[in-house]
Amino acid sequence: MPAKLLEGKPIAEKIKEEIKKEIEALGRKLVLASILAGDNAGAEAYVKSQKKTAEALGIDYQFHKLESNISESGLIEFIQKLNADKNVNGIIIQMPLPAQIDYKKISQFIAPEKDIEGMHPQNIGKILFGKAKIAPCTAASCMELIKASGVDLYGKEVVVVGHSEIVGKPLALLLLEQFATVTVCHIGTSKAGKLEEHVRKAEILIVAVGRVGLIKGEWVKEGAIVIDVGINRVNDKIVGDVEFEGASARASYITPVPGGVGPLTVTLLMRNLVEAAKIQR
Ligand code: NDP
Repeated sequence: MPAKLLEGKPIAEKIKEEIKKEIEALGRKLVLASILAGDNAGAEAYVKSQKKTAEALGIDYQFHKLESNISESGLIEFIQKLNADKNVNGIIIQMPLPAQIDYKKISQFIAPEKDIEGMHPQNIGKILFGKAKIAPCTAASCMELIKASGVDLYGKEVVVVGHSEIVGKPLALLLLEQFATVTVCHIGTSKAGKLEEHVRKAEILIVAVGRVGLIKGEWVKEGAIVIDVGINRVNDKIVGDVEFEGASARASYITPVPGGVGPLTVTLLMRNLVEAAKIQR
């Protein structure tokens, strides 16, 4: 039997209803400050989608377009002004940043209580201690999708492919918190020729790499839950990292690409904004 689709949109709609109630309870207009340095079509499309989601929730989306030649110190100064602005509840820096700017350095200058992407070391540290209120949105989206499948993570074999700071690493910590048995694969695993071996044992498989067809359909364990985070453009189509047809013939649940993880991430950014506002209060 083909796998059931785990779609992000209906989950996002439910979370949006909860966000609306939380904002009402806070009793104030929330403000999200978004920074884009330079021109980038992909980032501008993401900004549009964030603005639309924010406005539908009654959130004030302040967009700050900065010059592409802005210096690192200039950007830090700009962030610090937003940190000090009592009206601003959350700050997001759009990627990619111009070459002269190091994101890892810059992200540490956002006040942790306004870091709605959950990338400040203090917020990442809280995940380690199981006390995260604000988690990186893509990792949190994967957790919401797994939750929607109804599976109990306790003792499950979970394989995460990709170990980036925004997806794989925080996700591994969130999964451990639920007592899953977590294996994290990366380029070293592939180079050692061991990716297939790990993927085959996954009861829950999460792939965040950005390589078309990296995960062969026949590697997927019968009845597995497959979360495909990858976004790859092939001709005019967007596809994930997992061979969809082969995988969905074996899995119990699978996320479509597009339509799985993507629709959830922006909504979870808004949920992080609400959490940030609560912390500030
Ligand atoms: P990164 O490039 O930061 O990380 C990719 C990861 O994959 C790295 O850990 C890398 O290891 C690993 N990797 C590369 N090649 C292989 C391989 N052959 N086998 C195993 N692992 C490999 O990407 P991101 O984490 O930012 O994003 C991953 C994908 O998810 C992309 O397609 C991105 O577009 C998508 N994405 C989707 C989102 C959504 O909302 N749907 C949000 C964020 C990302 P190493 O670094 O050691 O080379």
